[in-house]
Amino acid sequence: MSREPYPEVSVPRPFPRARLRSTAAVFTTMSALAATSLGTGPSAAEADSAAPCALTRTDAHHSEGLDTWNAAYPRPARALDAVMVFLSFPDAHPLTTPQELTADHFPATTRFFERASYGRFTLRPHPLRHWIQMPRPSTAYDIQRDWSPEHRAAYLRDALAVADPRVDFSRYDVVYFVADPDAPGVDSDATKVVNLTSPMRADGTDLRRVVTVFEQHPPDRLVLAHETGHVFDLPDLYQPPAPPLPPRRPPPASAP
Ligand SMILES: [Zn+2]
Repeated sequence: MSREPYPEVSVPRPFPRARLRSTAAVFTTMSALAATSLGTGPSAAEADSAAPCALTRTDAHHSEGLDTWNAAYPRPARALDAVMVFLSFPDAHPLTTPQELTADHFPATTRFFERASYGRFTLRPHPLRHWIQMPRPSTAYDIQRDWSPEHRAAYLRDALAVADPRVDFSRYDVVYFVADPDAPGVDSDATKVVNLTSPMRADGTDLRRVVTVFEQHPPDRLVLAHETGHVFDLPDLYQPPAPPLPPRRPPPASAP
């Protein structure tokens, strides 16, 4: 692995957690996959690229263009392998087991992708069986939905360092770093994909993105499928909410 600092670009989830639990979120998750699954098969891709109404790829992040595939992303047109690394912290003793957290997400997530791809894509989970302890307390990373690049980089750097001796990262297409949901510094709203502008290097392979999972137990079951979709370059197909209004001030006291 590389020890250099690596800047990264995150793909923030524009909806607060409550919105992701809504029916609308189910629809957008599936419509995002459906849009891209049109282009997953070779014959479909050729047909799409010839169609006059097919969207063309642009420079936009997660472009919806179907004429080509962005080779920087794994293409879910075959079985892909996902490793789940379970991270504990010295300031908390886990109240769950890796097996319980695996069952929170699988096989449900695999079934979702099988349905959404009409059977063309299988996501194969490879969960580690034991917790791996991070070197610093959970509160040291200031984990939050829009956490600082420095704290996030420290988290990823430490996670990769402790996992690397136990995981051959060259075998996997998707990496889930799953944090102890009961550690005091873990914020369940922080689950997301981190896209690295400079890949992390491990086991002779480049890690370009990681899904950092901070879900509670039991979790929001839609979130892992949604974030995994971003690993396959699927865009968010919903309107981000308007920024919150500033707090209302009480009216000024009237003069007596
Ligand atoms: Zn998203």
